Amino acid sequence: MPEKKKKVFISDWELKRMAPPGQKPVIPENAIISPLSRDWLEYGDQGTGHQSPVTSHQSPVARHQSPVTSHQSEGRGHAEAELRRRIAETGRKLYALGFVPAADGNISVRLCGGTVLITPSGASKGALAPADVSKISMSGELISGRKPSSEYLLHLCVYEQRPDVTAVIHAHPPVATGLASAGIALDKPLTSEMVIGLGIVPLADYATPGTEEVADSIAGFVKNHNAIMLANHGVVTCGADLETAFQRMETVEQAAKITLVAEHLGGGRPIPPEKVKKLEEIRRRLGL
Ligand SMILES: [Zn+2]
Repeated sequence: MPEKKKKVFISDWELKRMAPPGQKPVIPENAIISPLSRDWLEYGDQGTGHQSPVTSHQSPVARHQSPVTSHQSEGRGHAEAELRRRIAETGRKLYALGFVPAADGNISVRLCGGTVLITPSGASKGALAPADVSKISMSGELISGRKPSSEYLLHLCVYEQRPDVTAVIHAHPPVATGLASAGIALDKPLTSEMVIGLGIVPLADYATPGTEEVADSIAGFVKNHNAIMLANHGVVTCGADLETAFQRMETVEQAAKITLVAEHLGGGRPIPPEKVKKLEEIRRRLGL
């Protein structure tokens, strides 16, 4: 009797590492892939210009395992509908975590063709429907939907400087916002996750919310940072896809909690510089 191969679970993160840019990943026969991996195989990095190396008709895994049929995945219309759904879903996750109470925070995704989907002004992120999401141009003109978030200039500022970014999240996670209100940046290498996942999170000067001051305050940090704290206000994160931007927001809040505890217990003791270098090397290898 032939030996049965043990099933191996492959996360979306591992799958992306297996696939060099523009090339098809070789998926082992015994692989079980995560829902996020299926999405990535089907849509690429959000179907927003960063194309998946495997299209739906090429991928044996997507063909057999994806709940989305090939005709559904064709065309930008579907990609936009899917992204609207994901923005609403991300809003619910942020709301459940207490990062965007009331109508706080905003989420956006850049589409190919230079337009941006963004949450509307004054809406609770906990009860957002895909159809509620507005669409604007890169110069901020409303294309469809309701009045966009008043922080749209902050989002556009990130997209202008970072062609690699297709998703931006602004939220008010309470511990990170507390540190930002105390003038404390997350710039001490206290845990390996902080160094690998975020690097230094700088603190931008205070700026009046909903004005171009906010975009101006982060402009000098955007090129080299995926997460920025806003003094007396909140946090901005970005990523090559919405899930990455969301996870970075979670990591910022986790790092803020750890920093708060360490500071209460007499001050955080940073990882030694030579060990930080090793972690930074891992970060570079992972392309983070
Ligand atoms: Zn805000």
